[in-house]
Amino acid sequence: MTTPRRIEILGVPVDAVGMADTLAFADRHVAEGEGCATIVAVNPEKAMRARHDGSLLSLLRGATLLIPDGIGIVWAARVLGLGRFGRVPGSELMPNLCALAAGKGYSVFLYGARPEVNAAAVEALGRRFPGLRIAGCQHGYLAEDAKPELVRRINESGADMVFVALGSPAQEDWMAQYAPALQAKLCQGVGGTFDVLAGRVRRAPKLFLSLNLEWLYRLLREPSRIGRQLALLGFAWKVLLAKFG
Ligand code: UDP
Repeated sequence: MTTPRRIEILGVPVDAVGMADTLAFADRHVAEGEGCATIVAVNPEKAMRARHDGSLLSLLRGATLLIPDGIGIVWAARVLGLGRFGRVPGSELMPNLCALAAGKGYSVFLYGARPEVNAAAVEALGRRFPGLRIAGCQHGYLAEDAKPELVRRINESGADMVFVALGSPAQEDWMAQYAPALQAKLCQGVGGTFDVLAGRVRRAPKLFLSLNLEWLYRLLREPSRIGRQLALLGFAWKVLLAKFG
């Protein structure tokens, strides 16, 4: 992949890339790229928010790579004739990047989540990818005035990749503010992925995943997510209106 093709769905940018493209981009950028590339996930919920939140929209526009994290994004691109590509779930990209890092000798830094979740995620990654160099970690409940100091620590750790799990849009804010000062080559916003790695939140069973029904599984397990899931319906409606309206 040279420069990924950036498309706009309902005015929100996203890159027409698959998992293999994304990993190839990451590999090349860590080896020979300039500056810290930022990888941000776009899903229907975030897209709906960005339509009414100018600062989130400009954070998205400023990201190096916008991965199509949700099946809704993949579907919308197809319906609107903007391209055919597979999903790149952020929660799958992160372990894939760790596998890449373990193979190539790159080191990683884990920033975010509750202290015990952060520690458990570090442990789980170490078990899953023997040889992975974990340069450092920091839980996600730091005081505001400690954040500049954190950037210094990340830089001193020599990490090549930084994973940021603060939830959205806090992690996008953090990346926009601090990625330019990072010496790491790659920074990915990973949402609740440390909770998944730590075994605190289970991903959907394979059947749900293969039917693209992960959203339904999450809704059944956490009915309080209904507000977030309604954004999905609003998104689908707007896409159909854009197509047929
Ligand atoms: N989090 C954090 N600091 C905060 C708020 C949240 O580290 O000040 C963490 C939280 O513990 C969880 C993650 O951010 O691990 C957010 O997960 P969520 O599933 O809500 O992510 P999203 O769905 O927004 O991607």
